[in-house]
Amino acid sequence: MLRTVTTLRDPLIRPLGKRTSDALESAFGLRTAGDLLRHYPRRYYTRGELTSLASLREGDHVTVLARVARAAIVPMRGPDWRQPRGQPHRPQERAEVIVTDGTATVKLTFFAKAPYHIRQLQPGRLGLFAGTVSAFRGQRQLVHPEYELLPGTAADDRITAELAAEYATELIPVYPASSRVSSWQISKAVQVVLDTLDAGEDPLPEEVRRRHGLWPRETAIRAIHRPQERADLGPARTRLKWDEAFAMQAALAQRRLAAAAMPAVPRPPSPDGIAAEFDRRLPFTLTEGQRSVGEVIARDLSCAYPMNRLLQGEVGSGKTVVAVRAMLQVVDAGGQAALLAPTEVLAQQHYRSITQLLGPLALAGQLGGAAHGTRVALLTGSTGKAARRTALSDAFTGDAGILIGTHALLEDRVRFADLGLVVIDEQHRFGVEQRDALRDKAAGSRPHMLVMTATPIPRTVAMTVFGDLEVSTLAELPAGRSAITTHVVPAVERPRYLERAWERVREEVAAGRQAYVVCPRIGDLAGDDGDDADDGDDAGAGQLFGAGADRGAPDGDALADFTARRPPLAVLDVAPVLAEGPLSGLRLGIMHGRLPPEEKDRVMTAFAAGEIDVLVATTVIEVGVDVPNATAMVIMDAERFGVSQLHQLRGRVGRGQAAGICLLVTDAPEGSPSRERLDAVAATSDGFRLSRLDLMQRREGDVLGAAQAGRQSSLKMLRLLSDEDLIAFAREEASALVEADPQLTAHPALRQAIDELLGPQRAEFLDKA
Ligand code: ADP
Ligand code: MG
Repeated sequence: MLRTVTTLRDPLIRPLGKRTSDALESAFGLRTAGDLLRHYPRRYYTRGELTSLASLREGDHVTVLARVARAAIVPMRGPDWRQPRGQPHRPQERAEVIVTDGTATVKLTFFAKAPYHIRQLQPGRLGLFAGTVSAFRGQRQLVHPEYELLPGTAADDRITAELAAEYATELIPVYPASSRVSSWQISKAVQVVLDTLDAGEDPLPEEVRRRHGLWPRETAIRAIHRPQERADLGPARTRLKWDEAFAMQAALAQRRLAAAAMPAVPRPPSPDGIAAEFDRRLPFTLTEGQRSVGEVIARDLSCAYPMNRLLQGEVGSGKTVVAVRAMLQVVDAGGQAALLAPTEVLAQQHYRSITQLLGPLALAGQLGGAAHGTRVALLTGSTGKAARRTALSDAFTGDAGILIGTHALLEDRVRFADLGLVVIDEQHRFGVEQRDALRDKAAGSRPHMLVMTATPIPRTVAMTVFGDLEVSTLAELPAGRSAITTHVVPAVERPRYLERAWERVREEVAAGRQAYVVCPRIGDLAGDDGDDADDGDDAGAGQLFGAGADRGAPDGDALADFTARRPPLAVLDVAPVLAEGPLSGLRLGIMHGRLPPEEKDRVMTAFAAGEIDVLVATTVIEVGVDVPNATAMVIMDAERFGVSQLHQLRGRVGRGQAAGICLLVTDAPEGSPSRERLDAVAATSDGFRLSRLDLMQRREGDVLGAAQAGRQSSLKMLRLLSDEDLIAFAREEASALVEADPQLTAHPALRQAIDELLGPQRAEFLDKA
């Protein structure tokens, strides 16, 4: 027989035939041999070591290694509840097979071909069984499981010495399977491909492999699918992680180089412009961090290639001022700046505070305006017709030096005379497409770009998700800030604590300060699922691990232990209860995403002016809202929020001189995962630590999310948090290699690996640098 060679790029149909390759494609999207070989085993069973059946959970799709204990045909009696009415052929009998791990058992039920299954599943036989765990009359069962009996397992435990020796070390890979394609079907397909595989040239140059003691790629691929012993798995995994890390970092290095090759208009600082005047007018002194980051940015903006900088800093560290100073430098140099905010509330707040800080400098051409001032325009989805027309025209003519807004800024009709700087606030609410859309509004050359985030990003995530950005960090908070104390208030166990919480709020108000009460839901609307921070203006896509991911997808197990019991508390229900009960006599306001924009603006302005004592709100106030006189926050049903989101929320208090307090009210019982997360938030005010915790509970795919479309599917092996060192090494090696050979002319295998990693998005990814 003619044996052809299979390469990683070959479509699976060649070695496997149409049926199998179609099944693999529709179940897992696997198209090429390389795709299949990157479908790594989830775990390995050692023969003789049975799966612990007691640990199976209802609803799980499982593949277990177990031994048949007994099997019997059971006649059907009476109407079978399983059969839909009117079904013509009711089965007369079913097969019931009990499998065991020696301790626990699971029942296998077959309604069809019962005698056949009984013949196959002889007591004592060892097999792999796959299906979805269900429960029937208290017993866990698999209905119509797929199964594969292992060869050479005798009808009882007396396996011959010879066989025992043969199988003692053999590891059985268990693949992520689906209800249509079983683990062993995948295993067989892998074997067919491995039999004829020629993996080709190694994308990792030999000296890199040598420096880091890495296996050749083909050895690693073979070992991960067919390990001789467990000790093979470590080096195989490390090598395959390197493949992902190295290709990704090489692509990012190419992207950085390409970006640096783009022309941009230099916008150097001028000694007597608006920026200098602004600095003189500042009511406070800049922190050391603000000053030094400011210098770096000032230098970036003076360059003839575009700045691509990520500014991260704790909640309240004063990123806005840094951005404003950068924007003014650009305005002084004759350009314009756009500031994109994720919510209407935040855009309005930026507009208010920036015009206020600028004073007469923001009133160019108006009575009382400074002679050399500029204009600041606001554009959101709800800006009125006349104001919109003015804003659009001021942006187009260049009369507005600064345009602040929400997604409305991205619309086609928004044109700039000379867009020199794009600032994106709370970038985790935006996707790359949105960044790019705004940036594309600069005619001719690239604008400089500054993206800001208060959700601190661990080093490796920054290196990966934002590997094309330079990162600056504001570590310190402005002087005079007092710390926020956070307490968990177990409302059920300690009702007295909750009463005390409301007393605390009254005390703060009595002392002339203000408070927030945050609820997960707006209320009063069918189908209101709590996902209501969406402002209409709210970014849906591309959250990193802040709001969207926190709110949208439930936090898997972390929330599952608790949330289902009653609907989450809602603003519209809680506010009247507070007004008549524990907070009676105080001036309460309401804030949520469904309010009309003018109303939002009115409420926030009133709250900022101290005309409202307590603001009962949804997470619309999560990002950016800055009212220094607000010192207390009570978060209801706190377990419904993600860790990073709670940290963001509490960042709204403690922004002034007085100490902030945040109370996390929850019904989650002590010791539950939900409660542990809340305790963690209460125990530390370090956003970096919390974001790690948050990340640990998510899969990498969610982390990368839409922020870098196309890559979430490509990380199979790499774990951004636990593989920190490996990623750092890979970045170093890949950057050096790309700098020496930007087009990778001498490294076709690496070029190929990058193509595979980025898939069809590759061109876009590199062009959009
Ligand atoms: P964030 O980094 O969370 O976006 P902001 O930019 O909203 O923080 O700043 C928080 C508050 O701190 C604002 O009221 C701002 O005016 C104030 N602030 C910024 N820098 C300083 C500083 N150097 N000294 C005192 N207050 C400052
Ligand atoms: Mg901010």
